Amino acid sequence: MLRRNRNVKIVATLGPASSSYETIKDLFLAGADVFRLNMSHGTHEDIRARHEIIRDLEVEMERPICVLADLQGPKLRCGVFANDSEIIEEGQAFRFDLDDAPGDANRVQLPHPEIFAALTEGSTLLVNDGKLRLTVTEASKSHADCIVAVGGEISNRKGVNVPDVVLPLAALSDKDRKDLAFVCELGVDWIALSFVQRAEDVAEARALTKGRAAILSKIEKPAAVKAFEEILEASDGIMVARGDLGVELPVQALPPIQKSLVRKCRRVGKPVIVATQMMESMITSPVPTRAEVSDVAQAIYEGADAVMLSAESAAGDYPVEAVTTMSNVAESVESDDIYRQVIEASRTPSKQSVGEAITAAAREVAETTDVKAICCFTHSGTTASLMSREKPRVPIIALTPKPGTARRLTLTWGLHCVVTPEVERFKMAVVNAARAAKSDGFGTDDDFIVVTAGVPFNTPGSTNILRVAPVDVKQIFAGGPE
Ligand code: PGA
Ligand code: MN
Repeated sequence: MLRRNRNVKIVATLGPASSSYETIKDLFLAGADVFRLNMSHGTHEDIRARHEIIRDLEVEMERPICVLADLQGPKLRCGVFANDSEIIEEGQAFRFDLDDAPGDANRVQLPHPEIFAALTEGSTLLVNDGKLRLTVTEASKSHADCIVAVGGEISNRKGVNVPDVVLPLAALSDKDRKDLAFVCELGVDWIALSFVQRAEDVAEARALTKGRAAILSKIEKPAAVKAFEEILEASDGIMVARGDLGVELPVQALPPIQKSLVRKCRRVGKPVIVATQMMESMITSPVPTRAEVSDVAQAIYEGADAVMLSAESAAGDYPVEAVTTMSNVAESVESDDIYRQVIEASRTPSKQSVGEAITAAAREVAETTDVKAICCFTHSGTTASLMSREKPRVPIIALTPKPGTARRLTLTWGLHCVVTPEVERFKMAVVNAARAAKSDGFGTDDDFIVVTAGVPFNTPGSTNILRVAPVDVKQIFAGGPE
């Protein structure tokens, strides 16, 4: 596999259905660009084993591969029941309290004392992915009395959501802190934070991550939607986490929120993943529903950086088929004229900065001539992200001497990332760009590329040079000293 024939990226969650070297390799070959390690499931040893496989695969494939570790976050769960589960009925009273005695049809433990203080009469509690709904009638420090609004089965350690309250919860649980230290040590590229409520939650994680990984905030609480601008500012990337968001808000609220979040991320050039239930039926079926195909397509038409598979690739019967299907949908959408029209109509105008102007100019040159790729040199990744934000028709090759930057940028729309030697002279950078374009199948010796870089190379500063160069390195050398 030299290159992908699409711009949108595919994130595949690993799990029991995808933990062997062979399967992970098949997922990669089918089109997975980013692997998600879900810290809510599996032991540290499972996670370590999967991470090692990905890094070995990276060597075998000679391509940077991105790893995203998803922290569980402060997810609330009820205690256990004497009979493991109970049916509670609409209109009946039910109590959550701090007593760890096994629950019954009238009460169960909710072992989160800080929650009780935040509840008031009228607050809603949702249980088991929102299937059960309870309304608080009276809350104290030690319990909450509720009336069941929508009944059903409640069983041991089911998840509890409290949608309409900003909970006084630490952004990271003790487990999250241990997991974060562990995955930073392993060397993952991105850390996803679950149930982010405010920008300070991101700052807290950043203080612990210390630059070892980029930070992605999962938007899955109404409070996070409200505080989105600040959260986006504090984060390196975003996930539209439709699973929990669709529990905490009415499902019909999701499409406009998804569109708005994707647009805001595109505006600032930070990657955004659209996640959850994208190919849900493929957990048990080798073909998706038409509605799922349309949902994946919609996210791509909006210009999302990545679409994600959860249980489909982690625990389903058809993990590789799910990736293949997503990839096929992406190729189909991206070759549609209407896709280009939509993407171009929603492009972000450049600000008055040299870096942004060069980036926009590179796209124009590439689109008005017959060059085969835009090659941009990047250290921190900023220049390549700006290039991606332009959404050019021509492929982008992001070249960087830093393997960590190459891996991290693999999540970003359209970036074919290449690790390249550090050079001093611009001419050598052009030579390396031309070699990458040729060896990775973007062009032949008769073709041309656009190259952007910041020179001189060893002084920090943004992109300030643009060159149209031949792919044929003999011609570059024949151009004389530089
Ligand atoms: P999860 O997050 O799969 O970790 O719950 C995604 C979501 O809620 O959509
Ligand atoms: Mn979630």
